[in-house]
Amino acid sequence: MTDLLSLPLPELTRWVTQELGEPKYRAGQLYHWLHKKQVSAFEEMSNLPAPLRQRLAQTAFITPVTTRRRLESALDGTRKFLFALADGSCVEAVWMEYHHGPSLCISTQVGCRMGCQFCASTLGGLVRNLTPGEMLQEVYEAQRQMGRPISSLVLMGIGEPLDNLPNVLAFLEILCSEEGQQLGWRHVSLSTCGLIPGIRELMDKRLGLTLSISLHAPDDAARSAIMPVNRSYPIGELMAVCREYFAVTGRRVSYEYALIDGVNDSPEQAAALARLLKGQTCHVNLIPVNPVAERATRRSSRAAVERFARRLGQLGVNATVRRELGSDIAAACGQLRRQSAASPEEA
Ligand code: SAH
Repeated sequence: MTDLLSLPLPELTRWVTQELGEPKYRAGQLYHWLHKKQVSAFEEMSNLPAPLRQRLAQTAFITPVTTRRRLESALDGTRKFLFALADGSCVEAVWMEYHHGPSLCISTQVGCRMGCQFCASTLGGLVRNLTPGEMLQEVYEAQRQMGRPISSLVLMGIGEPLDNLPNVLAFLEILCSEEGQQLGWRHVSLSTCGLIPGIRELMDKRLGLTLSISLHAPDDAARSAIMPVNRSYPIGELMAVCREYFAVTGRRVSYEYALIDGVNDSPEQAAALARLLKGQTCHVNLIPVNPVAERATRRSSRAAVERFARRLGQLGVNATVRRELGSDIAAACGQLRRQSAASPEEA
């Protein structure tokens, strides 16, 4: 069975003409039903002849997704979705309202194998990669539920996008295509813990998306202690590729820095971070870490966060403390999925 939702238009066209022996324009019609109208069944594709619809139903499928839970913040309207996939796996997506329009944060894998010490998504390891169609369905289903399109997308949910790069690229190609959702590449942010080969691939493709690096510590010893990936791709090499990324793409790199009490929040570490980023056109997002029940990490005090931000500012680094949305429903990323796995009947 062919997973139709996962095929970018050129691949879909090849499949329709070569596998089905149908004329090329049928691929365009099919793509329109899948990605503009976003129907869930072949019967709904009313301009396709009935025998073709039957053949499609026999040889292909449209990846389903269902909303298992939906939480709404009473504070700011942030929505958190728990989506169930065909095999029963669950992933999360978060809908946030900004002045420039709604933004959706989606998952790229079921679980994660990167092992970051402060993160809930990695606790049970990687289960599997999401397909392009499943990532699209996170977007389509959230939009269906909310009744309007997103204006930006962030790949910052469960999973490491650069650990599933071919699927992520196919997903974005479809989402940003003219015949699809036409989301601008500039309205896409991809966050990574720092897989250098993947960053290079993005850079070479010059896609125009925003690269966001989860840095979280200013030196190798501190970073390796909380992010195992740093042992394979240490900070010096990571900074070199980020500088190159800006030089090649002209896109400012964004750094995520989750402040953990007593681990990475000292004034000396702020100064070390400023030295590390010196001369880079970049932006630092400071995030008071979300405590994860299974981990000992504690969030830095408000005073420590403010001191850290002030120090960076004094040293010429462009930094902001991220506004917390949906703090009443949040739980750290990946926690909703874990809760539902622990007590499926309540989910
Ligand atoms: N794997 C990718 C994207 C998913 S994580 C990455 O590492 O960037 C999205 C962001 O949330 C990352 O910056 C990650 O480091 C951060 N994060 C993970 N757990 C967190 C927590 N408990 N509190 C605050 N930020 C967290």
